[in-house]
Amino acid sequence: IVSMQKLNKHFGSLHVLKDIDLAITPGEVVVVIGASGSGKSTLIRCINGLEEFQQGTLEVDSKTLQPHGKSGRALQHIRTEVGMVFQQFNLFPHLSVRDNITLAPLKVRGVNRQEAKQTANRLLERVGIEDQADKYPSQLSGGQQQRVALARALAMEPRLMLFDEPTSALDPEMIGEVLDAMRELAKDGMTMVIVTHEMGFAREVADRVIYIHQGEITEQGPPEQLFDAPQHERTQGFLSRVL
Ligand code: ATP
Ligand code: MG
Repeated sequence: IVSMQKLNKHFGSLHVLKDIDLAITPGEVVVVIGASGSGKSTLIRCINGLEEFQQGTLEVDSKTLQPHGKSGRALQHIRTEVGMVFQQFNLFPHLSVRDNITLAPLKVRGVNRQEAKQTANRLLERVGIEDQADKYPSQLSGGQQQRVALARALAMEPRLMLFDEPTSALDPEMIGEVLDAMRELAKDGMTMVIVTHEMGFAREVADRVIYIHQGEITEQGPPEQLFDAPQHERTQGFLSRVL
């Protein structure tokens, strides 16, 4: 569902992604790890066209994203089919939980109000906050807000979900409830790319873990291999600092 070849991304003179090759198959759960500033966020933001790249090829859900942001319709398709959850929840503060979830399906997918509402209720139940539908984001805990953000993304029935440190802004006691919801989603077969520092979670849900160092994929493999027997010196160094 994602095919990236020799992708290069610069911010001015800063070479942030270097010849990234990455292919993701439907149903795969890929966890991206690496030090701060290594390019993890930039990588996943390229996948849904939030960042332009300068060289290389990128296909997402059979649509081609062009270098220099010249993608037009493909970009529209990808924004519709790829869901994203950020570190900051980015909910609409002036909309109720339910309206946050139904907005995009109503506007972009053109589903009817009744159906959108039913879907919202079902998704809220799925992430364990069915009793919060009429509240506003500011009335919820961080963990609840992040689960609303997840439900909102899922309401578009995405073919791929991207997560950028979804639990980094949460108090420790709320991390578990968000990871549980993500674990369920993985179990249901969703294709997911997850940037996280939660190594226990990564080990448990990932089909593949990718270690990025200074914009390059230094090493990747199944979690057992990457965590228990890292081949590269840099991966070993990184893991010894975070595990
Ligand atoms: P973190 O773990 O801290 O979130 P990251 O691995 O997600 O880090 P990125 O956010 O992808 O790292 O940033 C990679 C590099 O690109 C960093 O050196 C960062 O300073 C730089 N960078 C990111 N966004 C921009 C931007 N909009 N303009 C200029 N430089 C940027
Ligand atoms: Mg980041």
